[in-house]
Amino acid sequence: MTACILTVALDTPIDTVFDYRWSSPEDDACIAPQIGQFVLVPFGRREVVGLIVEIKQDSDIANDRLRDILAVRTQLAPVTPEWIALCRFAADYYQRPLGEVALPCLPKHLRAAKTVSLDRALKKLAQSAKATPIAKAAKTQQSAKPEQDAEPDTEAPPPSSAEPATTPRPSLNAEQHAAVDAITVANGFQTHLLFGVTGSGKTEVYLNAAERILLREATEGRYGQVLLLVPEINLTPQLEASVRARFPHLPVATLHSQLAEGERLRHWIAAHQGRAAIVLGTRLSVLASLPQLRLIVVDEEHDPSYKQQEGLRYSARDLAIWRARQLQIPVVLGSATPSVESWQHAQTGRYRLLNLTQRAAAHAQLPRVSLIDMEIHKAADGLSPPLVAALRGRLERGEQSLLFLNRRGYAPVMHCDACGWISNCRRCTAFMVLHKPEHRLRCHHCSLEQRVPVSCPTCGNVDLQPLGRGTQRVEEHLQVLFPDARVLRIDADSTRRKGSAQAAFDAVHRGDVDILLGTQMVAKGHDFQRLTLVGVINPDTALFSQDYRAGERLFAQLMQVAGRAGRAAGTNASAPSSEVLLQTRYPQHPLYRALLAHDYIGFAQSTLDERRAAGLPPFAYQALLRAEARSLQDALDFLQQARALAPADGIVLNEPVPMTVTRVAGVERAQLLVESTSRPQLQAFLRPWIQALRQLKSRLRWSLEVDPVDI
Ligand code: ADP
Ligand code: ZN
Ligand code: ZN
Repeated sequence: MTACILTVALDTPIDTVFDYRWSSPEDDACIAPQIGQFVLVPFGRREVVGLIVEIKQDSDIANDRLRDILAVRTQLAPVTPEWIALCRFAADYYQRPLGEVALPCLPKHLRAAKTVSLDRALKKLAQSAKATPIAKAAKTQQSAKPEQDAEPDTEAPPPSSAEPATTPRPSLNAEQHAAVDAITVANGFQTHLLFGVTGSGKTEVYLNAAERILLREATEGRYGQVLLLVPEINLTPQLEASVRARFPHLPVATLHSQLAEGERLRHWIAAHQGRAAIVLGTRLSVLASLPQLRLIVVDEEHDPSYKQQEGLRYSARDLAIWRARQLQIPVVLGSATPSVESWQHAQTGRYRLLNLTQRAAAHAQLPRVSLIDMEIHKAADGLSPPLVAALRGRLERGEQSLLFLNRRGYAPVMHCDACGWISNCRRCTAFMVLHKPEHRLRCHHCSLEQRVPVSCPTCGNVDLQPLGRGTQRVEEHLQVLFPDARVLRIDADSTRRKGSAQAAFDAVHRGDVDILLGTQMVAKGHDFQRLTLVGVINPDTALFSQDYRAGERLFAQLMQVAGRAGRAAGTNASAPSSEVLLQTRYPQHPLYRALLAHDYIGFAQSTLDERRAAGLPPFAYQALLRAEARSLQDALDFLQQARALAPADGIVLNEPVPMTVTRVAGVERAQLLVESTSRPQLQAFLRPWIQALRQLKSRLRWSLEVDPVDI
C-alpha cells in the first residue's frame, strides 16, 4: 500500500493550501495521484472539490490531525502545470488565495461532490468523438493516461485531416496579408496590436492566422488550439457563425456565463482535452484549461467588459498577454480604438503595431460624421429637426437607421413641480428611474421597484413630471413622429428573456426594422448591411465625468456606433449616403473634433499627454481598496486605519473618500486609492499590506482591486 500527502487548493478566503492524506486502496494497484488532478476532500463539515498542487511525503501538520482524501477524479486528465502557474500568477497579482482563482473559474458541475454530471458529460463527449470521424481526427494526443472510458482512442495517430476545409472567402488585401504574416511568422511570444477601423476586416485576419497556425501544427503531427476572446455574449453568434463556416471540420467550443451548466461542462472538457481546436469565449474563458494553446486573440481589446468587476477582479486582456508569454505564443489585440495603454505600448515598441487603414469590402466607406449644435437646433423630445429630417429621408428610401442613447428606461427621474419632490431611492444615493411601459419606478443600483405613484408622495400633486429621457421615451416619440415606421428598441429591459436579444438582432438583419433604437447593446460588433444613418442622442454627459477614463470610453463607443453605418459592400460608390449625426451642446470639444476626423491617433496622443502630465495610468499604477459598512464613518475609519498601517517608499496612499454613488442597498461605500510609478513596487507593497488588513479582524467588508477601471 502506498501513501502520501497531497497539498490541495480549495475555494476559500483563507489564504493557504491544505494538506490531506492519501493512500491507495489495498485491493488494486491504483495509479498514484498526480499534480493537477481534482479531488474530493472533507473541509469543515462539508465535502468540497479541490486541486492537487503538490505531492509530498511529509506534512507540517501532525499526522493525527490530517484528514483523508475522499476521491480522486481520475476520469479527468490533470490540468497542466502551466495552467496552475497561470492561476498562481493571477492569485498573486490580484492578491487572492490560489484556490479562489483556480476553482471558481471551473464549471459548477466539476466542483460538485457527486460525479453524475461529470461522468455523463464525459460519456457524451466520447460518443460524439466516436460518431464523427472529424471530431476524432481533431482529438489530442495528450498524455491523458488516467482517463479510461473518456478517451478510448488516445493512441490514434494524429491525422492530416485537421486541415480546415475551404469555404468561399474574400482574398486578403495587402494590409491583411501583412498582418497575418506578422502574426504567424513570429516565433515565440509577441503581442500584436491589430489597429483597424471598423469594417477593415480584422475578423478575416484572426481567422486566417488561426487557420495557418492550426495547419502548421497539423502538418507537424500535433493538434493546436486557438482562443478567441470577445467582450460580450451578444456579439458571439455572428462571430461564432463565421468561425464555424470557416472551419466546418474543426470542433469549436464556446465558453460564456450564459451557457447552461451541462453545456458549459462539456465545452470546458472539450477545451481541456484539447479536442476543441477553437475556443470562443468571454473574459472567463481566458482561465480555461487549454493544453495545446498556440494563439490567443482578444477582439475589441479596449472593451471594459474584459475586466471582471467582482470576486477576482482580473483583466482578461492582461491575463491573455501573460498566458501568451508563458507559453511563448503570439497574442493579437484587435481594435479600432485601442485602449490608450495598449497604444502606448505600441508606440514604445513593446507591442507590434499592425495597421488596417481601410474598409475591406469593396466600396464600403467610413461614414461622414457631423455634429448638430443643440444650442442652435432646439430638440422636441430629444430629437433635433436635422436628425428628424435625416430619419425621414431614410424611411422614404427604405434604408435603416440606428439611434444610440446610452440610457434605458423612460426618464432617469420623476419630479413634482409643486413641492420639489424627486424620485430618490430610499436605499441608494441614486434616483429611481421611470419605466413607463412597466408602470414602475426602478433603481438601477439596487433593483428596488415600486409602482409609479399616482400623486406626489409629499404634497399630493397629481401632475408628476418625468425629467430627462431614456430609450423608452424616445421610442414613444418616434412612434408619434413616424407612425408607419417599424421601430425596435434594444436594451437590457427589452431583452430580458433568453434568446430575445438574438431574435431582435435577427429582425434587424432581415430588414424587418426601419429604426433601431438602443443603448450600448446596439453599438457593438453587429454588421448591419442596410444601415445608412446613425444618430447619437445625448453623449455630452460623459464629457464631464469624474472618471478619467470616461473620455476614452466615450470616444471608443462613438467610433464603434458610428462604424455600424456604411458597412455594406457594393453600395454605389458615387453616392455615399452613410452618415453619423451627433447631437451636442459642445461642438468645439476636442473629443468631437477628433471624432469628425476619424482621428483615433490624435485622440490617443492627446489623451496620453494629459495622463502623463497628471501622473495617471499608463504612467502610474493603481490599486483601490474599497470598504462597505452600515455607516459611512465606519467605512472611512477602516480605510484610515489601513492607510496608517503601512507607509512605504514610492507609494502614495490617498485620502479615503466616499464613492460617487455612496450608498447602495443601504450600504455605505468608501475607497482609498493607492498609487505608484512602479508596478513591482506597488506589488511589493500590496502583499504585506493585505496580510496586515486581514489581521485587523474588522467585521466590515472590504476588497482590493488591482489596476481598477472605475474610480
Ligand atoms: P472588422 O472586424 O474589422 O470590423 P470585419 O472583419 O467584420 O471587420 O469585416 C467587415 C466586412 O468586410 C465583412 O463583411 C467581411 O466579410 C468583409 N471583408 C473582410 N476582408 C475582406 C477582403 N479582403 N475583401 C473583401 N471583403 C472583405
Ligand atoms: Zn409634491
Ligand atoms: Zn436603490
